[in-house]
Amino acid sequence: MRMTLLGTGDASGVPVYGCECVACGKARTSNIRRLPSSALLETQCERILIDTGLTDLTVRFPPGTLTRIAITHFHPDHVLGLFLLRWGCAPPLEILCPPDNEGCADLYKNPGTLKFKQLRPYEPVFVNGLSITPLPLIHSKPTFGYCFDSDGKRICYLTDTIGLPPETRSYLMKRPCDLIVFDCSYPPREKKNQNHNTINDVLQIYAESNFKQLVLTHIGHELDAWLANNKKLLPEGMIVGADGMMIE
Ligand SMILES: [Zn+2]
Ligand SMILES: [Zn+2]
Ligand SMILES: [Zn+2]
Repeated sequence: MRMTLLGTGDASGVPVYGCECVACGKARTSNIRRLPSSALLETQCERILIDTGLTDLTVRFPPGTLTRIAITHFHPDHVLGLFLLRWGCAPPLEILCPPDNEGCADLYKNPGTLKFKQLRPYEPVFVNGLSITPLPLIHSKPTFGYCFDSDGKRICYLTDTIGLPPETRSYLMKRPCDLIVFDCSYPPREKKNQNHNTINDVLQIYAESNFKQLVLTHIGHELDAWLANNKKLLPEGMIVGADGMMIE
């Protein structure tokens, strides 16, 4: 099982349009960007795109190169790419998603070639030797993280969320993961955000859990600026995600 992070940015991405902060300036000069958070999960028989905020999906993934798509939720930074993909002439593509009947704009009304399949919390679907279990998260829209099991290995992809619901946390505690990709949008800050983790939230969850390797994603420019001086504060198993990062 292999996961490639295609994007690791928050809804504004890095650099932020018009922002002159240190992190955005550095991102511009080095041309190292954070595109909308998304990933590609590959096994021998499956090639699953997780989230679709990238707007060049039709170029990146010619017809037949994906077996299906799984989306965490219907916020624009996670579904923008579907608006172009749907009008293609390619064979229908299955989109696994949370049970959010509102969806985003007219995606449900005009799905084109997309076949939405709403999943139920903690009920796995099995495809070609891979099990995909939706894990509810805490966000302003119904949101699923996904746990992928194949060949005795387990990878979890958990964004967008603030903390973890107790059931999801105990699910993860009972089933140690080889790798967790986790929402971490902000540096430490006083005001609690209702939708995303700060680095302190993630450090606390990490300390209280049995997670081995944890990769941060959905990273905003303020967190990037903070990390530039404080990366050494992260525990050994915690890695800052980057676009293009491949994890075997
Ligand atoms: Zn998001
Ligand atoms: Zn900035
Ligand atoms: Zn969101």
